Amino acid sequence: MEIKISGHEFEYDVTGMSLLFFPGEAVLFKACPRGGRRLSSRVVAGGRGLCARATFWDGERRYQAEKKITRPDREGVLAAVKYTIFQVFNRATGIRPPWGILTGIKPTGIYRRLLEEKGPAETRRFLLKEYCMQPEKIPLLHQICKVMETVQTDCAKEASIYVSIPFCPSRCSYCSFISVAAEKSHHLIAPYLEHLMEEIRDKAAVLQKHHLAVRSVYVGGGTPGILDLAQTERLLSLLKACAGTVPELTYELGRPDTVTEEKLRLLKAMGVTRVCINTQTTNDRVLKEIGRGHSRARYLEAVALTRELDFDSINTDLIAGLPGESEESFAASLEDVLAAGADNITIHTLAIKRSSRLHGSGGYFDPANDHVQRMLDRAYRRLLGAGFLPYYMYRQKNTVSNGENIGFARPGKLCRYNLYMMEDLHTVAACGAGASSKVISGGSGRIERIINMKYPYEYVNEYERIRSNTLLLVRKLEEVL
Ligand code: SF4
Repeated sequence: MEIKISGHEFEYDVTGMSLLFFPGEAVLFKACPRGGRRLSSRVVAGGRGLCARATFWDGERRYQAEKKITRPDREGVLAAVKYTIFQVFNRATGIRPPWGILTGIKPTGIYRRLLEEKGPAETRRFLLKEYCMQPEKIPLLHQICKVMETVQTDCAKEASIYVSIPFCPSRCSYCSFISVAAEKSHHLIAPYLEHLMEEIRDKAAVLQKHHLAVRSVYVGGGTPGILDLAQTERLLSLLKACAGTVPELTYELGRPDTVTEEKLRLLKAMGVTRVCINTQTTNDRVLKEIGRGHSRARYLEAVALTRELDFDSINTDLIAGLPGESEESFAASLEDVLAAGADNITIHTLAIKRSSRLHGSGGYFDPANDHVQRMLDRAYRRLLGAGFLPYYMYRQKNTVSNGENIGFARPGKLCRYNLYMMEDLHTVAACGAGASSKVISGGSGRIERIINMKYPYEYVNEYERIRSNTLLLVRKLEEVL
């Protein structure tokens, strides 16, 4: 598609809106010649004041929309530009993306702000009319914000630690993370862990120096379950020595085939409170197709073993929209996870990024096909009916059916780390390849990010850069505390 913009500079956002309706289509910014698919997006000053206008040509057909800009600040102009583009694309295609013109990753922030400014009824009207959202998403946002309010932290006194283990037994076909399959990188795990332990020691000392008590630790991946017993024990002993006994210590074992009774007993003995066993689906055919080396039976067995050891909470992730998954098989997966006894269930929507094997295999991004939205809506109804509460949400680019990711928990079982991190409630010192630390200032709301290099081999070979990041963490904390 060829796009011409004038009177504004929102190229990035216009591209995002175009990809919502025409996923995978190349977008070129240039003067619109005749023929083909073309969009013109303009901000103009007319007799009625400042207006956003969009014109979309699809072959011989032409669609137009206009919106008066009532708030001339950046946000107001951007909303009007997106609104007009939404209108012309919607009329041309009949597609109505569920989140309307909201393309950011955290709709809860916008919802909370609107709620404060306008109250519930006016917020609902505004989201439907001005942001073109689908009505069924609004109660979810509302419930999530209510649950979020129950989690308090003092960001001048509290922080969390994240630890990245970016290795997996094999690579899933949809994976776009930095994690590397262990068969190709087994030799990196030992040197990686040595550096990781140094980084944890250094960053925990920085938190201590600034009198920040560690409220949660999250060991995530990749697949942290890939570490052997001795490696797991060393890592958890160090975390205990550095952070003390924390109220919430999550260990993401990840793939069910890494779960053993000895490992679970070790986690329990080392103070882990929350365990993640992520099956993504329990359909054996789909599991095989996406390249995960475990079965439904292995998942059920792993959760049953974990339940026997009485951890505070067990989390399982599911993904809606995996290749070969039907509405029925996804609903059956959710029934399995509920029956197994998971306390947290995170429902993701399949996202296909360039770096995944699935990218380019086609057929996934048909925004007119809303069967993934039906999977999500059915799952939400089932979880709410089973007494689970939605408590955090984020959106990603390139999700099938433009869906979202929502964490559900039984009352009292939500993962605090997810909220601290997702809602920027306090500082997170993140260690390992691909980890991103955040320094949060409570007063000004300022957020500073310090991002580690992506790949494990860089982390191992260029560890000096991580030492610089630790010094940066010190500087940023000194600035904000
Ligand atoms: S388990 Fe997760 S991180 Fe590992 S390959 Fe699969 S999707 Fe990627």
